[in-house]
Amino acid sequence: SKAKQFVQDEKRYFAPFARIPYYDLVIDHALGSTLVDIDGKEYLDLITSASAINVGHRHPKVVAAMRAQEDKLLHYTPAYYHTEPVVQLAKKLTEITPGDFDKKVAFGLSGSDANDAIIKLARAYTKRPYIISFVNSYHGATYGSMSLSALSLNMRRKMSPLVPGIFHIPYPDVYRANKSTAEVVEECIQAVKDLFATYVPAEEVACVIMEPVAGDAGIVVPPKDYVEELYALCKENGILFAVDEVQQGMGRTGKWWAIQHFDIEPDLLSTAKSLGSGMPISAVVGRSKIMDSLEAPAHLFTTAGNPVCCAAALATIEVIEEEQLVEKSRVDGEYAKQRFQAMQSEFDFIGDVRGIGLNLGIEIVKDKVTHEKDQAAGLKIIYQAFAKGLAIITIAKSVLRFQPALTMTRAELDRAIDTLHEVFTDLRD
Ligand code: PMP
Repeated sequence: SKAKQFVQDEKRYFAPFARIPYYDLVIDHALGSTLVDIDGKEYLDLITSASAINVGHRHPKVVAAMRAQEDKLLHYTPAYYHTEPVVQLAKKLTEITPGDFDKKVAFGLSGSDANDAIIKLARAYTKRPYIISFVNSYHGATYGSMSLSALSLNMRRKMSPLVPGIFHIPYPDVYRANKSTAEVVEECIQAVKDLFATYVPAEEVACVIMEPVAGDAGIVVPPKDYVEELYALCKENGILFAVDEVQQGMGRTGKWWAIQHFDIEPDLLSTAKSLGSGMPISAVVGRSKIMDSLEAPAHLFTTAGNPVCCAAALATIEVIEEEQLVEKSRVDGEYAKQRFQAMQSEFDFIGDVRGIGLNLGIEIVKDKVTHEKDQAAGLKIIYQAFAKGLAIITIAKSVLRFQPALTMTRAELDRAIDTLHEVFTDLRD
């Protein structure tokens, strides 16, 4: 096939550290939920470029908005002069993010730089040095966001020292802990208290940054009690609460923002990926008084707030509103979850089905009692699914990542789920 040859040739030119190798899917074009490879074969996209295309590939309204902007101006840096789409998008973001207080917005190019901004702003505003993040989190690949992350030794080895002053606490992962929810909440809150009591003075902590649903850790939904208790601890100690909504925001979880599943208004929020339907744009939205704590050029990128990317983002938000995709994500997510839960009773190797919205993690295990991960079986499943026309991957070693476009039709959703059922049946037999 052309695809095999392409991948062979590509190895000579493409740096190895920017891709996690799976099967050889060479995408030529895409529309909605369908990817077409260079041999003309079609695939249903179940991961939407790591949750970056929530409104589906080449949504006509997004494409039209970008074309209209391209006919006027491709770029001028917001560092010096003003363009309308930047301000329109900033205003819109202050309106659709949680919190009934004055907010301001800073733009960047990737989720990574947005999380760097959170570190800078939290330190500047609180005048405190330390940041708390989570074990198994992924926040990006710039030095700052990589230092927040704790998911892979490949993001540490050979590149240290990283940004100092960042500590990692356990994320409450009830399935992996294999304990009751109450025990996990208690242990994880105790871990924060121990940290404050032993080697990180609470009054020197600037912020906690949390993914309200942990994406790359395997679509882990934390217990509500945990998040609310952690938030209370932050408030008691003058610590800012920041949320990384890069992957889980923009309607993915059946709310506009994943933090809205909890009774919390974050001080800072980062977004990217689906914000621009995959175009390079990120934003940090924060309380105005926090956003006013830095001065230029503390966080300025020449191509940030690119007007074509802002037009894509404005159109994406409009599509989510008009097509009521937040609600659709909730309803379709519930439907898909029920179907996979039925399969959990049918197949011994499906240990857990979790997530909210069109945002599911299906954990493949060797043993339903011990919850031991089965990485090899997970890989077999995604390769077989690929052969049958599905683009899906595993994360956290053994978790099937199910994040289709929120625009996916019910017929496509059924086709995807039926095909996965066939793959599971083949694996069992
Ligand atoms: N935060 C989260 C939660 C993410 O999932 C990612 C990307 N996987 C990032 C930040 C980094 O975003 P980007 O790759 O756009 O820099």
